[in-house]
Amino acid sequence: MSTNAAAPRAPKSPEHVVVAGAGMVGLSTAWFLQERGVRVTVVDRTGVAAGASWGNAGWISPALTLPLPEPAVLSYGLRAMVSPSSPVYVPFSTDRQLLRFLVGFARNCTPARWRAAMAVFARLNRDALGAYGVLGDGGTAGHGVVEEIRDADPFLAGFASEQDRKILVDELAHVVSSGGAVDYELLSGAEIRSLEPTLGDGVQSGVRMLGQRFVNPPAYVASLADSVVQRGADLVTGFEVADVVDLGAGGVDVVARTGERLRADAVVLATGTWLGDLARGYGVKRVVQAGRGYSFTVVPDEMPKNPIYFPVQRVACTPLGDRLRVAGMMEFRSPDAPLDPRRINAIVEAARPMFTGVDWTARREEWVGSRPCTTDGLPLVGATRSPRVHVAGGHGMWGIALGPLTGRMVADGLTGHDVPSYARHLDPLR
Ligand SMILES: Cc1cc2nc3c(=O)[nH]c(=O)nc-3n(C[C@H](O)[C@H](O)[C@H](O)COP(=O)(O)OP(=O)(O)OC[C@H]3O[C@@H](n4cnc5c(N)ncnc54)[C@H](O)[C@@H]3O)c2cc1C
Repeated sequence: MSTNAAAPRAPKSPEHVVVAGAGMVGLSTAWFLQERGVRVTVVDRTGVAAGASWGNAGWISPALTLPLPEPAVLSYGLRAMVSPSSPVYVPFSTDRQLLRFLVGFARNCTPARWRAAMAVFARLNRDALGAYGVLGDGGTAGHGVVEEIRDADPFLAGFASEQDRKILVDELAHVVSSGGAVDYELLSGAEIRSLEPTLGDGVQSGVRMLGQRFVNPPAYVASLADSVVQRGADLVTGFEVADVVDLGAGGVDVVARTGERLRADAVVLATGTWLGDLARGYGVKRVVQAGRGYSFTVVPDEMPKNPIYFPVQRVACTPLGDRLRVAGMMEFRSPDAPLDPRRINAIVEAARPMFTGVDWTARREEWVGSRPCTTDGLPLVGATRSPRVHVAGGHGMWGIALGPLTGRMVADGLTGHDVPSYARHLDPLR
């Protein structure tokens, strides 16, 4: 980061903005900036959906879009230190950023802090689908996103016992008492297996949640990128942002690793789990830690039509056309470390008893990606200490569900329009 001018305010509405990061959040931001009449250049060091936005579960599920730091995660965390097959894995490490994250995260795992963060999520969840609707309609600038958003009915959660199910039912009660809305019904083992014949005898009770949605993440983000380009954006791949130079009234220079420079009136940093590298110099002190998740696809004999969740195993399954994506694990370590096959095996062993008719050896598309996690579980959205440098990220487990709403808030903030009052809880300088 460098600054070479004392900083007058950014123009009310910038004419040209560079968005760094072509994931769900960066592309949504680009789209809503275009809706506000701004010319956009999107840059990515690799390409569209090169980060977490590719191999995730694609759920837009207000019932489950909750803050990550919660009292139960602490007990998982302790087990995780000794068990690489636990769904939350924290390797022994002396990495200072990781230790800072873990201490901050543990402080937020209290019932009171969870309820406070949940009250914010409840409001985000109420607006999230509306922002998706605008993307689909094409807004005023046209060329909407053509990839569909699917109704997930039934959206099922499966459990090995009624006792296991109580964990989700209690959590849903907390969601409601914190202002969230959840509509669900309880199912017996026979009922859930008749709704989804691919479920095996390991599933002995269930929950059916209503009003949830899902997307095919790679297809949706590709379609969003097409829409952004059709609406006039330049999309530049192979451009790794190494620095952002604040020029004061002259705008910003976005500097690539190669030395190439792009000048614009403002920049939005939407680089996922790597956000901290560029934002720290602009006063963003919150750690963004990679919470790595894994996924792969299989072809069950009976293809499920809707997502299936196994909360105790922390495994999320989503039908993507003719294959079923199976995702899970939360591994707090460097986003750039290689895929660890033991984590894939842990997901297979957790999922196997819950299904019937799946050849687990015929896996394809094995993938690891990093959820950009913050210590308080809330995203980082808005201006940094420079009015020309904004950030959009830190969504942890929920950047697909909340990406479009985030993009709209960032675009509105940058162009001098009103943002919802809850945006103050997402202040990147908090
Ligand atoms: C297993 C798993 C399951 C998940 N399931 C869900 C789900 O069901 N629903 C949900 O809402 N969320 C889910 N998530 C979370 C979701 O995937 C993320 O929150 C979201 O994708 C983050 O999007 P992003 O755009 O912020 O980051 P990313 O998608 O990671 O994009 C960041 C982009 O920035 C680029 N970049 C990085 N550094 C630079 C640089 N210096 N210069 C230029 N470009 C750079 C990268 O190449 C990348 O393309 C899941 C995540 C995982 C891992």
